[in-house]
Amino acid sequence: MPETRESMAYDVVIVGGGPAGLAAAIRLKQMSSDISVCLLEKGSEIGAHILSGAVLDPKALNELIPDWKAKAAPVETRVTQDRFWFFTQSSAIALPHVLFPPLMSNRGNYIVSLSNLCKWLGQQAEALGVEIYPGFPAHDLIVEDGVVKGVITGDLGVAKDGHHKDSYTPGMELRGKYTLFAEGARGSLSKQLGAKFGLQEGREPQKFGIGLKELWELPAAQHQKGLVLHGMGWPLSNDTGGGLFMYHWGDNFCSIGFVVHLNYKNPWLDPFGEFQRAKTHPAIAKMLSGGKRIGYGARAITEGGTQSVPKLSFPGGALIGCAAGFVNLPRIKGSHNAMKTGMLAAEAAAAAVQAGRAGDALEDYDRAYVQSWVAKELYLVRNAKPLWSRLGSLLALPLIGLDMWTNQLFGISLFGTLGHGEPDFATLKPAAGSVKIAYPKPDGHLTFDRASSLFLSGTNHEEDQPVHLKLRDPGIPISVNLPEYAEPAQRYCPAGVYEVIEESTGPRFQINAQNCVHCKTCDIKDPAQNITWVTPEGGGGPNYTNM
Ligand SMILES: Cc1cc2nc3c(=O)[nH]c(=O)nc-3n(C[C@H](O)[C@H](O)[C@H](O)COP(=O)(O)OP(=O)(O)OC[C@H]3O[C@@H](n4cnc5c(N)ncnc54)[C@H](O)[C@@H]3O)c2cc1C
Ligand code: SF4
Repeated sequence: MPETRESMAYDVVIVGGGPAGLAAAIRLKQMSSDISVCLLEKGSEIGAHILSGAVLDPKALNELIPDWKAKAAPVETRVTQDRFWFFTQSSAIALPHVLFPPLMSNRGNYIVSLSNLCKWLGQQAEALGVEIYPGFPAHDLIVEDGVVKGVITGDLGVAKDGHHKDSYTPGMELRGKYTLFAEGARGSLSKQLGAKFGLQEGREPQKFGIGLKELWELPAAQHQKGLVLHGMGWPLSNDTGGGLFMYHWGDNFCSIGFVVHLNYKNPWLDPFGEFQRAKTHPAIAKMLSGGKRIGYGARAITEGGTQSVPKLSFPGGALIGCAAGFVNLPRIKGSHNAMKTGMLAAEAAAAAVQAGRAGDALEDYDRAYVQSWVAKELYLVRNAKPLWSRLGSLLALPLIGLDMWTNQLFGISLFGTLGHGEPDFATLKPAAGSVKIAYPKPDGHLTFDRASSLFLSGTNHEEDQPVHLKLRDPGIPISVNLPEYAEPAQRYCPAGVYEVIEESTGPRFQINAQNCVHCKTCDIKDPAQNITWVTPEGGGGPNYTNM
């Protein structure tokens, strides 16, 4: 007998409770309290899977909830100092502010925990009548006659070998006149939608970085509340993009993180190892000394900018936030753009529902995006990533500065609009010709190993469930990736999910799926594009606090 699923119908279904999804939900209810809205979140609670820097440009929040201060939003630490350092191994050279045009300034911005801000946005949404279901991942699309009609949540109680346990409960259908996908960078359903509707056609490939972050508590005497510090250079080689961020906020909190652009070439590179090494720089180690690490996590970040923004709408729905990719890379900011695009899509969806429409493409949203301050902001910095990828950090830095200045002052670029070239999975060189990188052993005070880090992420998955990292061809890791690239998954995964175990019969590829922090790096960087990340059982994954 075919399995029957429970089904619920809404005007709008939203997948993902990050800034984009929550802003969309709130805006829909602001447009009309009669519009029924449901929001699904795979984390155990809203905010549990949110990891960001984060310096918040409050532009979108001001538009969405102008009285956010009176409503006690957790947005309290104003930026008071804004520094940019270039690191060599032993020194930190402060770069003058004149290098950067006003669009890079952090004046008026706040240092926040985006995870906490999302919790608060979730409360605002619920107060307006949005139905929020944390612990419910959207696992599959409902597509009928070429129209997206909603999503199906993941089944519960399926064992590793696929048999149904006593606790088995089939996933539910959530049907919507429109479904907004707010899954963030490299969303699993957004990826399927991109392929199904050709959303990336005529656009540059999306580009990504992996961002690793730790939360520290510093001795009060060392804490410089409001300090924003960005750095580039050492320990990354000149041809590897990325850099460090450090934000002092709240009660002696210090968010420190490291981004490595995923178009790196050397398969021996270990982003986690680079982050640990970056903290040993004398200027950084001094700032962290006597402090205590209390949090860890990792997440992919979109970097393609305006050239990579896909077609946003398709029949029955739209991509919002980083599911489409609206991060301003030189500013390392995307949450204001995520919120604003969520609001624009919500406005288009509300107007459509009120006009009695359903299931068509929300083209008004595509048009509104093109006219919006999000598109304008991304256009000004469009050459930062391509210049960095082509020229390396040293040469690119002054040219990026110059390009942003001419764009901001005169509305022109000497470079026109540069493309990105290859997607990130295609950039690795063979291991044989690449320089092996030796990473120092962790000291347990300033630098750490993956296991103790993972512990601080609060990651937890039901162990007896199907592996949610799907290999198209289980043979590729050992037969292709190992000889060619020394199986880079062992190094790029920030959670130690992938291991190559030497056995008497030869090497074996092991997947420790329960460690996964849902960063999506493997789905992006695997050179054979052999790994597909799908949602695990509901509520599994990290449990971030104050991240
Ligand atoms: C290390 C790092 C530092 C950053 N620093 C800054 C900064 O300082 N300032 C700034 O403005 N931006 C920063 N960003 C970027 C910013 O975090 C993103 O632009 C922003 O979080 C995007 O919001 P979003 O709602 O689109 O996606 P996300 O924040 O990724 O949220 C997506 C949500 O959807 C959920 N989800 C995903 N798939 C499903 C599914 N299938 N079913 C149910 N739920 C699902 C996820 O669990 C998550 O809660 C940083 C990013 C990183 C990684
Ligand atoms: S398995 Fe993939 S998604 Fe999970 S933590 Fe590792 S790289 Fe990230």
